[in-house]
Amino acid sequence: MTTGKIRVRFAPSPTGLLHVGNARTALYNWLFARQAGGDFILRIEDTDIQRSEKRYERQLMEDLHWLGLDWDEGPDEEDRPEKGEFGPYRQSERQKIYLEHTLRLLEEGKAYRCFCTPEMLEAERAKAQADHLPQVYSGRCRELSVREIKRNIQAGMPFAVRLKIGEEPLRFNDMVRGLVEFPAEAVSDPILVRSSADEHPGMPVYNYVVTIDDALMGITHVIRGDDHISNTPKQVAIYKAFGWSVPKFAHLSTILGSDRERLSKRHGATSISSFREMGYLPEALVNYLALLGWGAEDGKTETFTLPELTKAFSLKRVTPSPAIFDFDKLNWLNRYYIKQSSPARLAALAWEYFGGLLPAKEVASDAVLVWFAHVVALFAPYVDHLDQLMTKAIFIFGTDPDAARRNPENAAILALDSSRIVLAELAARCRAFGGIVTPEVFKAWMKEIREATGVKGKDLFHPVRIAITGTHSGPEFDKVLPLLEQGGRLNLGVPSVQQRVWRFVGV
Ligand code: GLU
Repeated sequence: MTTGKIRVRFAPSPTGLLHVGNARTALYNWLFARQAGGDFILRIEDTDIQRSEKRYERQLMEDLHWLGLDWDEGPDEEDRPEKGEFGPYRQSERQKIYLEHTLRLLEEGKAYRCFCTPEMLEAERAKAQADHLPQVYSGRCRELSVREIKRNIQAGMPFAVRLKIGEEPLRFNDMVRGLVEFPAEAVSDPILVRSSADEHPGMPVYNYVVTIDDALMGITHVIRGDDHISNTPKQVAIYKAFGWSVPKFAHLSTILGSDRERLSKRHGATSISSFREMGYLPEALVNYLALLGWGAEDGKTETFTLPELTKAFSLKRVTPSPAIFDFDKLNWLNRYYIKQSSPARLAALAWEYFGGLLPAKEVASDAVLVWFAHVVALFAPYVDHLDQLMTKAIFIFGTDPDAARRNPENAAILALDSSRIVLAELAARCRAFGGIVTPEVFKAWMKEIREATGVKGKDLFHPVRIAITGTHSGPEFDKVLPLLEQGGRLNLGVPSVQQRVWRFVGV
């Protein structure tokens, strides 16, 4: 590319769900491109035919969209055509390009056919091990004559294609780690194309195709996980063999769990889709992913929207040390963004968690939508992620009096004489009343009951709360009561205050 435009890519393999580590890679690439007015390219690395699946490809595109990351060039999606002039953007559709390049390297003598069998290679490895030498390929097939090669091909001998590595050490300047250098012997002659009995070479390997694609797509900066550091010298050697300019590299640190082991399912959710299903907001996740290995210039700001990140982000502030995934911090950010969200948005997101208790959202009346938004607004301050709302708010849809009585804490409260007397008074008032139990009505009742029985404070309120909500604690009663009364009139099967008391006291 001669334009000097920054071009980066995110190159996931569609072999599983998008992991937070890869999502962070995508985010850093995206931020880097957007900040510089460059291009962000999505390339699907689906050469592992056995493990690549369309559903993972679809899911990862959906997850990127959900996070708010768009791409300037990439493969086709559903009804949308492929974007960009450097396609195809799926490696499985680029085999012809790889083959042409392999033939070119063979012709130019930069690569050679290797006829060594797995047994020969194994014997070589074992000997190197016994002699305490590096276990690398000896380069035996480098010097085969044209006649020998021809004869082997005609005899149908399978061959791989290997790159000839020179004597020079292989180095690259990493934007996060500084100069990285590998001695040529440690790299030896890497396989570019796996063994095939065919006249044509077999499957090209990751290091090879990634280099061809990055070069042909004009990628200027390769930002990816540090698990690829040891691959990079091989890729540098491939760039050089083709005479291509080498892009800049930035390798991001590994993400670890709190026990300093590589982050895995053992630590909790790790895929973007599972965080989404749990009711994390995309802006919280994006914000948190940005902080996994990068920090603000002022050393303290921690809340950033995507546009704010685009301004503030810098690869210079990305640390090479491992990042520890801190679920508490993510929860803190999620609570922060929940607080910033409108009740209508939260209600729309929370709807699915109340499946079975609510009508389908599309057919719900305005009154139900508004009521549910109030329910969500009342409980949202008490949750880390939205799927916890259901447990907090379930009592609104009715409680099971027997289960409430069996709860040991409740049982202790209900066993008090004062509780029995208070509940009898409350039931009597409910019986005699035909209207809506507003907070005012309720307050007046509680005052009367206190005066009539002499019971006050916790002894007065706890049994009443248990009867109405199933537990002795919860959000302010002034806010809960209207939701119960309004809910009771919406045909959702939500019992009114009176019905709750009657059911509990057994009138
Ligand atoms: N498909 C590779 C991966 O998912 C991409 C590596 C790279 O960015 O070069 O790890």
